[in-house]
Amino acid sequence: MERIRRAWHRWLAGEERAAPGLGDLLLSRYPGAVMLLDEKGVVLEVNPDFERHAGHAPSQILGRRAVTLDAAPLHGGFALALEHCLTTRQPWRGVLLCRRADGALRHQTTMIQLLSEPPSDTLRLLVIQYDVTGMRERELHDRQLLARLGDTISHLPGVVFRMRQDAAGRPELLYASEGLMALTALTPAQAMDDTERLLGLILEEDRRWLEMTLAQSLVSLDDCQLEIRLDLPDGVRWVEARARPQRRRDGSTLWDGLLIDVTERKEEEFKVRRLVSTDILTGAMNRRAFFEQVAMVQARALRHGQALPLAMLDLDHFKALNDTHGHAAGDLALEAFAATCRECLRPYDLFARIGGEEFAVLLVDTAPDEAWAIFERLREAVEEIDLEVDGTIIHFTVSLGLAILAPDGSLDGTLGDADRALYRAKHEGRNRVCGPVDLEPAGAGGNGT
Ligand code: GH3
Ligand code: MG
Ligand code: MG
Repeated sequence: MERIRRAWHRWLAGEERAAPGLGDLLLSRYPGAVMLLDEKGVVLEVNPDFERHAGHAPSQILGRRAVTLDAAPLHGGFALALEHCLTTRQPWRGVLLCRRADGALRHQTTMIQLLSEPPSDTLRLLVIQYDVTGMRERELHDRQLLARLGDTISHLPGVVFRMRQDAAGRPELLYASEGLMALTALTPAQAMDDTERLLGLILEEDRRWLEMTLAQSLVSLDDCQLEIRLDLPDGVRWVEARARPQRRRDGSTLWDGLLIDVTERKEEEFKVRRLVSTDILTGAMNRRAFFEQVAMVQARALRHGQALPLAMLDLDHFKALNDTHGHAAGDLALEAFAATCRECLRPYDLFARIGGEEFAVLLVDTAPDEAWAIFERLREAVEEIDLEVDGTIIHFTVSLGLAILAPDGSLDGTLGDADRALYRAKHEGRNRVCGPVDLEPAGAGGNGT
């Protein structure tokens, strides 16, 4: 600024008119309007290209107050800027909205510098302008575009997010769209302030799954996709997360992705899965589901070297019950039997109807030596059912064959063992539990009817 000021003065003083120096070049080539004003703001001099940049012929402006260039000459920014300079004796810098002679409005970046030259100390104001209208229009356009984009994102039926994991593996939410509020009741700002508050909503088991998936994606840089459950005040919601990783030079990784609430879809899936795996009459799982579930329980048991007690159950003289009281009464008996079994078992034990009046039970997390007592209690509970059919109370009993499924044993083989034990129970008089002799409690011999 000081250089320009000196050059301007040298130029005014005619010192450098003979050989064009920096001052001449600056003034003739400067791509904007330059004015020298007196202390009242009246224009004394303008640069050669003034008309092109300010849109006024020098003859129209010389001798007039510079504020006439302002879009609002009396109360516009130009008047305030000059006043600021004169009262504070400080330069002013800002953008002024000016009007060209043809009426067009232009944004001019403006610098106003106070000059006071000895010996007379006459006050002068140097005004340098540069037209930034095009830049402002582009900026405004970009801003509108961004606002529209933000609006679209905020209306998406999901959450757009950007997450960062630093080299030490710490996750940080850098951005989340407005949809986060509807999904989690956390505002994007709250979640960005405290990423753990958001991650803390994920169920423990799913959190480990998420961490594993991210760790894999971190190495492979492949897209990741997973379904996680959020524990929210209104209940658990299922969320599908999809994200694409990119590695940064500082060793951190960025994930850009989407979160979509898929609770309704998951509930439908569970309903269908339950329907295809459940016996309609008794609500017990069917044979196919039993085999699938046992395989999963066995995989877990294998890690802990745990043996699993398994029993085959068959209602006694059921054909006779049907024959005497009718098939409908038989159905009621099957329902009552299943309900009693569920009462005697824990929710995570597996209970399946694997044939007409044949059932199987796998006890989860139960030591083999505890199994006999559990099945014995179940047998007694069935014996005590008072089933009322057409005013008549019917009683029925069940025989059980117990076997132990080794952690790496075959289910078919163990079902065969249980079947043979069941055959013995029938043979020995029914309404009793039979199984491996070493598990049989002292004095057990059933209630043979
Ligand atoms: P045991 O004590 O030896 O087991 O004699 P049981 O009569 O129970 O043996 P059996 O296997 O000969 O008869 C089973 C009967 O169960 C035959 C069939 O009519 C009946 N049953 C099978 N499924 C159903 C069903 O869904 N509803 C009804 N009501 N009866 C069924
Ligand atoms: Mg039977
Ligand atoms: Mg049978």
